[in-house]
Amino acid sequence: MSNHTCIVVGASHAGTTLALQLRREGWEGPIILISEESELPYHRPPLSKELLAGAKTLDEIRLRPAKLFDDNNVELRLNTRVESIDRSNKTVQLADGAILPYAKLALCTGASVRLLPGSERFDNVFTIRNAADIEAFRPLAREGSRVVIVGGGYIGLEAAAVLRKMGLHVTVIEAASRVLERVTSEVLSAYMTQLHGSKGVEIVTDTLVQELRGESSVELVVCADGSEYPADFVIAGIGVIPNTRLAEQAGLATERGILVDENAQSTDADIYAAGDCTRHPSALYKRPLLLESVQNATDQSRVAAANICGKPTAYDAVPWFWSDQYEIKLQMVGISEGFDELAVRGNPEVGAEGGFAVFYLKEGVVIAADCVGRPKEFMVAKKLVGQRVAVAVDRLADESVEAAALIA
Ligand code: NAP
Repeated sequence: MSNHTCIVVGASHAGTTLALQLRREGWEGPIILISEESELPYHRPPLSKELLAGAKTLDEIRLRPAKLFDDNNVELRLNTRVESIDRSNKTVQLADGAILPYAKLALCTGASVRLLPGSERFDNVFTIRNAADIEAFRPLAREGSRVVIVGGGYIGLEAAAVLRKMGLHVTVIEAASRVLERVTSEVLSAYMTQLHGSKGVEIVTDTLVQELRGESSVELVVCADGSEYPADFVIAGIGVIPNTRLAEQAGLATERGILVDENAQSTDADIYAAGDCTRHPSALYKRPLLLESVQNATDQSRVAAANICGKPTAYDAVPWFWSDQYEIKLQMVGISEGFDELAVRGNPEVGAEGGFAVFYLKEGVVIAADCVGRPKEFMVAKKLVGQRVAVAVDRLADESVEAAALIA
């Protein structure tokens, strides 16, 4: 008898959405959602914000209530690790040796944090990816204690904002010449540096951590330029690596991410993939993209679910991101990399009234925008980017032109 099971590996934003969406798309066979974690799936963005601040508990940030999995007849297997895929027999092998057959397989394996070399031997060096990571360093996050955060990306800056508000002395050490260099322009990097400085966070750029010094706990962070930073604990927010091990072992095509087509299908017609672990062809940007965002995880997994159910659907969403730091809300749309012109609307100075937006253009077309306290511009920018609209730089910067009129 043929098998009608769909197995989804990974139960974060992508895997959970995909498994539940399969039912909505009409998958009638068994659905098994496998998670290595022991927790009912939870939202990850609040880890470095509300959960860290203690404003929300883990139960308040669950992705879906347990009942919803039961109601949709999705079998959620926690504490379960998939060891390997046997494509010829269409089975997966679990760490306990069990073998599960599949008709279709979806890999939503996410990404793993990069670790600071040598950090494993210390008991006070942490990362932020899972809920357990926050619980691990919460007892050390006391008013007056000193935290050194390595990496001035989203994780580093969001954690810096929360820990500073909690009264810690916070130093951020960034290897690049500015914070958020991977994702934005100098305008926004300068604003974020100024914002954190105004709150008392020390941001050090162009500085590479060379050594963590101490016995069982780090006491001093030593940098390549000889500078030293005393620390009660250290957080590394130095990026992530897509989890491609299973795909590689199974012989699927990977290239710093599992390669999928616009249907979220891998190089095996019965294996799909979605979320942080994938690289997909973007018609919008005309190149393969690896996106590390909740938007990508949920939108791409919906597309995967439709295709698994035999409804051809292409993924070409406009990427967007957000970050909350102190009282500001940053909303970003598109990928600004490769822009040749930019327009600043409003005043990008900390403390200036009314927020601001930075629009990025390439050959006259808006390809991305960063908005601080500008929800209207963000909504308009989503359309400008998605519809590849050409707008004159002067017009984008002109506050007398209503945001809505920019798309007209
Ligand atoms: P990230 O955005 O890649 O930033 C890491 C930063 O650390 C980079 O600027 C990197 O510089 C720097 N770095 C790397 N090695 C370093 C070293 N040895 N010393 C000092 N600096 C170093 O990654 P992340 O902040 O860790 O975030 C992890 C993932 O979560 C990302 O995918 C991110 O997009 C996602 N996330 C998103 C949000 C959001 O959208 N609001 C919030 C939290 C997390 P180089 O680039 O020069 O290596």
